Amino acid sequence: MLFPTHLAVAVLLGRRLRLSTAWLLVGAALPDVVDKSLATLGVVDLFHTVGHSGLLLVVAIPVAYAGRSGLALAVGWGTHLLADAFQIVLNGRPTDALFLGWPLVVPPTPMALPPLAFARQYLWSPAFFVELGIWAALAAAVVAERRRRPSE
Ligand SMILES: [Zn+2]
Repeated sequence: MLFPTHLAVAVLLGRRLRLSTAWLLVGAALPDVVDKSLATLGVVDLFHTVGHSGLLLVVAIPVAYAGRSGLALAVGWGTHLLADAFQIVLNGRPTDALFLGWPLVVPPTPMALPPLAFARQYLWSPAFFVELGIWAALAAAVVAERRRRPSE
């Protein structure tokens, strides 16, 4: 999923779940900020590694129980992983979703494209149209909220 769409999902959840949008945004950004940086610097070979690993649940669960901010952070992180896995499966590369088990398992033939190359091949894929739906939902939520507010 494209990075801005992860942030849009966080904003939508913040409105729906009454969690801190700021902490949801941090959690939703974290996997890509960590992993894309590590891969760009050549520390790891793949763009879905430590920040995208489901094994981080051992950290995310205690963080979620630490308070509302921690819960928002963990939910943001979790939605990022689920959204990435969903789009990968939807786009016909289900074995790439094995990134969730990194480092215990790795996808056998990962795409391993840098962010811009990924974005180019991703446009017009089935998951891209799901993202358009997410952006339409965000726009509808913003419009609905503005209509509810008294005129300024
Ligand atoms: Zn990601």
